[in-house]
Amino acid sequence: MKKLCDICMSKEATRQDRIVSGNATLEFSYCENCYQTALSMGIPPYELAKKRLARRGSECYSCSYTAEEFEKSFLMRCPDCYRNMRAKARASAAGYFEAHRASERLFGVECDTDILKNLAVSSRIRLARNVEGMPFKASYADGAQNISALFDGAVKAAKGAFDCELYQMSELSTLKKKALIELHVISLPLANSPLGAVAVEKGDDLEMSVMLNEEDRIRTQCVKDGFDLLGAYEKARRYDENLRRQLPIAYDEEFGYLTACPSNLGTGMRASIMLFLPALVMTGAINEALEQYRRRYGLTVRGYFGEGSDGAYSLYQISNSIAFNVSEREIICSVQNAAIDLCRLETSALEKVLRENKTQLIDKIFRSYGLITSAYSLSANELMQTLIDVKLGVILGVLPIHSMTPLNDLILACASSFEILTDGITEEERNVKRASIVRKRLEEVK
Ligand SMILES: [Zn+2]
Ligand SMILES: [Zn+2]
Repeated sequence: MKKLCDICMSKEATRQDRIVSGNATLEFSYCENCYQTALSMGIPPYELAKKRLARRGSECYSCSYTAEEFEKSFLMRCPDCYRNMRAKARASAAGYFEAHRASERLFGVECDTDILKNLAVSSRIRLARNVEGMPFKASYADGAQNISALFDGAVKAAKGAFDCELYQMSELSTLKKKALIELHVISLPLANSPLGAVAVEKGDDLEMSVMLNEEDRIRTQCVKDGFDLLGAYEKARRYDENLRRQLPIAYDEEFGYLTACPSNLGTGMRASIMLFLPALVMTGAINEALEQYRRRYGLTVRGYFGEGSDGAYSLYQISNSIAFNVSEREIICSVQNAAIDLCRLETSALEKVLRENKTQLIDKIFRSYGLITSAYSLSANELMQTLIDVKLGVILGVLPIHSMTPLNDLILACASSFEILTDGITEEERNVKRASIVRKRLEEVK
């Protein structure tokens, strides 16, 4: 076996050194490069080697990142950090996994498919990947060649998986970036990264998108309408398989896919379902229900529009917290089961509202429908409130709209392109324009 240099711990050693220290004789080996560097610094090479050996396990030989820096950020810097500070990484990851561990699992949960169709807005799979030999975070030190090899690999991997178009953040207008952020295709940090790029599916669907040079080098995402995590997974997986043929994806036998944040180790997968839960909100039962899912089933639940947002449009996103020591199928199953269970709770909450306040509820639905279909001017907040009622009206079958999809689209559009379409005009003009778009869309779906 080749002996490695005691200073860089990576190159083959070509020089040997023997130091007598007290009664012991210490042996050191160096590569030519480290040996010459030490001499040029005026330090005996064995001193550098001793220092390095004393820090073994607390420092990454490839990128010089230290365990102390990791403590502060809970982010690793390169794939080798995990290998060079294995014990440290193992202990930190174990702490995170323990804190988010499910104490119970949901089995055999069932729900009427019509209910799922009405309450599950969309299903999303995200896979985090990195490239061997590249730090997790992009920088100009990567070199243009490596960055373009990453972009090329990501685009080539789309062949046979989806029809792909690449946008580099440095070339996109602020408006286009804003639209992509609001559609959840890219994140704010990516939009602000001059080296960031996104490969998106051509056409209106935007089911597939791949963020490049975000927190991890590659973040593949597939979003499907309604309750369809498996469909999203299949599509994302097809791309991921191609990707592994194009680029040397960072993987470790113990940790699985290596990711900047240890919370994504393992499968590197997040599976999430967006749910419409208005009755749980109305009855005030929502927070307790969500807390239970966090505590008992180890899941992450949050309002859909932004981190910490408390369910604007009554939309909540439920996802796995842990991707480690669990298979992709198990993750999908646990998120699906929790979503189904929440839909069941929502249905009982709705029944309760109907039992106690039927007239009031139906009246509110009709008033909102009247407002939305005839208003000349609509504020964003008004629209949000009324759309919730209208969606409820569709679920109860009391309104002349028979499909939920256009309403879901309208919600997403209200949260995104409305602002884009109306950028630069006054609030008043914006409200008038919003009302006219809503009227037109509802006319089309009747
Ligand atoms: Zn060396
Ligand atoms: Zn490193």
